[in-house]
Amino acid sequence: MPYTYQGVEISWLGHAAFLLKHSGKLIYIDPYKIRSKGSADIILVTHEHFDHLSPDDLRKIVKHDTDIVAPRSCEGKLKGLGAGIIKLVKPGDKVMVKDVEVEAIPAYNLTKFRAPGIPYHPREAGGVGYILNLDGVRIYHAGDTDFIPEMRELKVDVALIPVSGTYVMTAEEAAEAVNTFKPKLAIPMHYGSIVGSRRDAERFKELAEVEVVILERE
Ligand code: ZN
Ligand code: ZN
Repeated sequence: MPYTYQGVEISWLGHAAFLLKHSGKLIYIDPYKIRSKGSADIILVTHEHFDHLSPDDLRKIVKHDTDIVAPRSCEGKLKGLGAGIIKLVKPGDKVMVKDVEVEAIPAYNLTKFRAPGIPYHPREAGGVGYILNLDGVRIYHAGDTDFIPEMRELKVDVALIPVSGTYVMTAEEAAEAVNTFKPKLAIPMHYGSIVGSRRDAERFKELAEVEVVILERE
């Protein structure tokens, strides 16, 4: 079941994938191993890792006028999909996509390393999270990130937050993050597929001091 927050219908499609429906628009974020729920008006991709940038999944939902927002590292795999406009962004950019304001927020690791000194998500790689402004409702998808200083000042209504650890925040770190920037609602993600389980989502809910809704995968 989707969760509706102030007129925005939010569906969790598993892992970091979401569908937001608002004013008749379908906005997908990081579609991966999804069932199509209709063609996309807008798709946001946070970074080039296979579990976030999945051409097979994009093909399920792209139409000729689907606009895609993604960092430059994704460019190669977005070509040839037959989408409309592709907007390449870097952290800090703000773009308008079909009347929706989309802001790219930094997303990177401080404490998750693939090898000594080499983070899974280096800041220089230019991965992002996004804040979408849907008629004044601000929805933040954090991407693959640790609790970074840039998060402290965020003003958002809904935060879609990774909780599985290993490559992203642990449940404890994610709770610390939302307890700091205090969204009105937090929804845990990035578990149940590659890494992490529902227990991480539940642990996050126990520790968070803001309202948390754990969505069922659709
Ligand atoms: Zn990643
Ligand atoms: Zn990931």
